[in-house]
Amino acid sequence: MDWDDFSLWSKRIADWGAQYHKTLRQRPVRAQTVPGAIAAQLPGGPPVKPEPMADILSDFEDIVMPGMTHWQHPRFFAYFPANAAPPSMLAEQLVNTVAAQCMLWQTSPAATEVEGLMIDWMRQALGLDAGFTGVIQDSASSATLSAVLTMRERATGYTGNRAGLSGKGHLRIYCSDQVHSSIDRAAWVAGIGQDNLVKIAGTGPRYAMDAGALDRAIRADLDAGHTPAGLIAITGGTGVGACDDLAAVLRVALAHGLYTHLDAAWAGSAMICPEIRAKFWRGVDGFDSIVFNPHKWLGAQFDCSIQFLRDAAPQLNTLKIEPEYLKTSGDVVTNYSEWTIPLGRRFRALKLWFLIRAYGLEGLQARIRNHINWAEELCEKLRALPGFEITSEPIFSLFSFRCPGDDAMQQRLVDAINDDGRIYLTQGALAGRRIIRVQVGQFDCTREDVMMVKTVVRDIWEKVQ
Ligand SMILES: *Cc1c(COP(=O)(O)O)cnc(C)c1O
Repeated sequence: MDWDDFSLWSKRIADWGAQYHKTLRQRPVRAQTVPGAIAAQLPGGPPVKPEPMADILSDFEDIVMPGMTHWQHPRFFAYFPANAAPPSMLAEQLVNTVAAQCMLWQTSPAATEVEGLMIDWMRQALGLDAGFTGVIQDSASSATLSAVLTMRERATGYTGNRAGLSGKGHLRIYCSDQVHSSIDRAAWVAGIGQDNLVKIAGTGPRYAMDAGALDRAIRADLDAGHTPAGLIAITGGTGVGACDDLAAVLRVALAHGLYTHLDAAWAGSAMICPEIRAKFWRGVDGFDSIVFNPHKWLGAQFDCSIQFLRDAAPQLNTLKIEPEYLKTSGDVVTNYSEWTIPLGRRFRALKLWFLIRAYGLEGLQARIRNHINWAEELCEKLRALPGFEITSEPIFSLFSFRCPGDDAMQQRLVDAINDDGRIYLTQGALAGRRIIRVQVGQFDCTREDVMMVKTVVRDIWEKVQ
C-alpha cells in the first residue's frame, strides 16, 4: 500500500467511524451470534496473493461487525465501561500512525515527558499529594502485579528476584473478599500463592474489610511464623462496588510495616470530583501504590491504566533491569520501561492529553455526576417494580437487583434482556445469590438511555415469567 492509498482508506474509515457512532443506538448492544459463526465465514488459511483493501473492508463490515459487542453503545450497562471519547480516538490514530516504541526516554523523548506530565495532571485532578509520581501501564492487572512483586521483594530484602523464593516461608498478602480476580492472579504469578492471599470478609453498607479483623489475621500469621508482606485495599469493587475504609486499614498496615496498594481501577475516575473524594478517599495519600484506569469511566480509549507511586524506589528495585543494549549515555532521564514488566511501550499519554484538553475537568466531572444521579434514579424505579428487590444499593453508579424467583430465573431474565438487544446487563453473585448488575458509565449515555433500563426490564420480565 502506498501513502496515497493510505490517505484514501484512512478517510473512508474516519467517515465510517462517524456514521457507526451516530447510528449506534440502532444496533443490539451485545453481539447476536453463536460460537463459531464468525470464524465459519472466513477462509481457514492465509491468502497467497494480495487482496484489495475494498474487499478486506467489506468483509470487515459484513462478517466481523455483526460479531462485535458495542462497548461504545450508550445503553451498555454491563461489566464496567471501556469508554473511548472521540478526542482520545483521534490521539490514538496519531499514535498508530507515528507508531513509536516508547520504552526509553531516548526512543521518543516527547512520549516520556508527556507521560510524566499527564501523571501529574491526573495526580492534581485526583487531589493526591505532590509527592506521588507514577507510570502508565496497559491494564490494572499489570499495575497490581507490579505492586505484588514489589511487596514480595521488599518483604524478602530484595532477594527474591536473584535467589528465588525457596526457603522464604509464607509471604502473606491481605485484602477483602470483594477484590477483583486480578489480585488472585497477581498472587499466583508472583509466587505468593492463592493460599497466602488472606481474604477478610467485606461487610456493612460499603462491603468494607473490618480493620480489627485485618489486625487479628496479621497477628495470627506472625504467631504462625509467616511473613506479612502487603495489603491490597479497594475503592469500587467489581461485584457491587465495595469500598474499604482506607484510613482504618492503613493504620493497621503501617503498624505492621506492610507495603500497600489500592485498586481503584473503575471508581478512581470519580475521584476527579472533590465531593466524592471527601466521601470515599480519606487516607488515600498513605498508600504506596494506587491504580486507576482512565480507560474505564474517564473516557480514554483502552488501554490506559495509571499507577501512582508514593516512592518509586521499591518498584524500581523490583523491576528495573538494564542490559548493555538498553543503557543510555548517562542522561538524567526517566526510562519508564524500568517501572513495568513489559519492555515495549505504546505512547498512551497522548490520548489523556487530548481527552483532558478537549473536555476540561469540568466536562469530565459533569458526566460522572450525571451517571451517579441517573443510577440512583433508575434504582428507585426498579425497586418499585412489584416483587423486585434491590440487592445492593448504589455505590457510585453501580447497583444490583433481583427479579422474583430463584437464581435460574435471574439468569433467564439477563439472557433474555441481552437477546433483546436494547440494553446490555451482566449477572454477578452476592452472599451466595445470583444478582443482576447495573452500572451507568458509558460516555455518551443520556438520562433517557438510562431510564430505558426500567422499560426493558419490565417488558422482558413480562415475557419470561
Ligand atoms: C476492571 C478492574 C480490574 C482489572 O482491570 P484491567 O485493566 O482490565 O486489568 C481490576 N480491579 C477492578 C476493581 C476493576 O474494576
